[in-house]
Amino acid sequence: MRGGTGSARAARGRQPVIPDIRTAVQAALAGDWSPLLGTAMPGKHWADNARCTGRDADLFFPGSDDPWISPEKVRRRQGSSLNRPLNLCAACPLPVASRCLVEALRQDDEYGIRAGLLASERSLLRQAWKQRRRSAGADVASAASRAA
Ligand code: SF4
Repeated sequence: MRGGTGSARAARGRQPVIPDIRTAVQAALAGDWSPLLGTAMPGKHWADNARCTGRDADLFFPGSDDPWISPEKVRRRQGSSLNRPLNLCAACPLPVASRCLVEALRQDDEYGIRAGLLASERSLLRQAWKQRRRSAGADVASAASRAA
């Protein structure tokens, strides 16, 4: 028994911290994609656990939410109509929300709320994702030319 509590505390201390989605997004914008990619649920059926399953998809496409508009303006214009979709996203399990966001980035979805982020809030992240892919492509090309 002696030291048991301390050992348990130490073991807990070693566990990775699972961030919330906004923390993962901030890390990605700073160049560290591992929290977002690392928490994304793998597999084909991730969307089965989504809180938006069976809901009206229009909820997630607020009229004035465009990629080039400021999120503050969208929030002012849309008001409380954003509450339902944002609350659903907030209730979505983190691995599902992470995967939802990653899929939106992969498909370059410009519109719609994903993982609690407005389209207007995802613009910077979409640019960062494209930059990441360009860099990965450049690394592959440079490795191939070195190998040739
Ligand atoms: S994060 Fe939001 S949009 Fe994405 S699956 Fe969950 S509820 Fe649906």
